[in-house]
Amino acid sequence: MNGLDMKSKDLQTRAIRAGLRRTPQGEHSLPIYATSSFVFESSKQAADRFAEVEPGNIYSRFTNPTTLAFENKLAALEGAERCVATASGMAAIATLCYSMLEGGDHVVAAAGLFGSTTTFFNKYLAKFGVRTQTVSTTDLDEWADAVRPETRMLFVETPSNPLCEIVDIGKLKELAGECDDCLLVVDSSTTTPVLQLPLELGADVVVYAATKFLDGHGRAVGGAVVTNRDDIADNVFACLRTTGASMSPFNAWTFCSGLETLALRVREASKSAMEIARWLDRHPKVKKVYYPGLEHHQGHDLAKKQQSDFGAVLSFEVDGGRKNAWKLIDSTEMISITANLGDVKTIITHPASTTHARITEEQRMAAGITEGLIRLSVGLEATSDIMEDIEAGLSAI
Ligand SMILES: *Cc1c(COP(=O)(O)O)cnc(C)c1O
Repeated sequence: MNGLDMKSKDLQTRAIRAGLRRTPQGEHSLPIYATSSFVFESSKQAADRFAEVEPGNIYSRFTNPTTLAFENKLAALEGAERCVATASGMAAIATLCYSMLEGGDHVVAAAGLFGSTTTFFNKYLAKFGVRTQTVSTTDLDEWADAVRPETRMLFVETPSNPLCEIVDIGKLKELAGECDDCLLVVDSSTTTPVLQLPLELGADVVVYAATKFLDGHGRAVGGAVVTNRDDIADNVFACLRTTGASMSPFNAWTFCSGLETLALRVREASKSAMEIARWLDRHPKVKKVYYPGLEHHQGHDLAKKQQSDFGAVLSFEVDGGRKNAWKLIDSTEMISITANLGDVKTIITHPASTTHARITEEQRMAAGITEGLIRLSVGLEATSDIMEDIEAGLSAI
């Protein structure tokens, strides 16, 4: 890109410099190509573009230069060959499944997934004859028992949402290897390439909700499918240009600016989250803290091996179920009550009644999402101010 060999550069340099292809106008900042279609010089050129004998833009549902800049930047950060941008994180997951699975296929999915992902597998993908078996996120024996000859996909989030459970990506790769072309898919929305590189650990595909940390400022909804395999990227792209859940160039522009500060944001927020987790862990009104940076956490050792830091998301449980959880949340003043995460603003969420309200009670219990559980996405305000606000909530219960 502009003559620089990006593979040899540090992550932070790639975050700033990768993806840009300057036009003859000499702009220093990425332009937004606000155009739905592209003009051809002749009928012959139009025909050649459609026949894919000549590369180039046709229509922004297929490709757009601003969206391409985001794809190149994220691929460079991931150290991956290919990236396909999508309209949302769910669009990334849905398009991947539509393009790579068919009726009769079997999927093994972790219990601790983003709520809509679980709903997508069980309610919508099931309509097309793809059956999904849910397993306890961290129990590798359960994963092994669930895998069958017709299993075509293992789907996991590590750390999981919202309990931050850690799964050994390398071990899942071994299980996937027992089947004929079974894809290991990792939703890495909460870690980002700053903390974890699933493709290096054995994953075939990484999916992102760019909505979260990649943007980092809560401005836009988007997603991405990242992979080193051309067959997967080609299939996803072909499906996307037909089914239409493409990323808008406006959003791609927003994500490109978000990616420039990704490493700085994620590292700083992780540092703050560690401090907050330690403080909550000692707090008499807190029953339990779920954060992989704490030595007593189920996945602490594995997270140390698999990740470069422990991340900005943590959960904690209070006594008194929903009543006290809501009271705590409602007694904070600064922290935002919203269902997003990965924002520079600290966010507090009650998963059982919001992000995970649409899955069944049984699924919630299997995922460990109790009524007293509170999720925190630590932002970039001063750690002391975040703690002071949570303390106000804790003293109210
Ligand atoms: C938010 C989220 C999604 C869905 O992303 P959208 O952009 O909201 O569609 C998927 N996975 C995880 C882990 C998420 O946090």
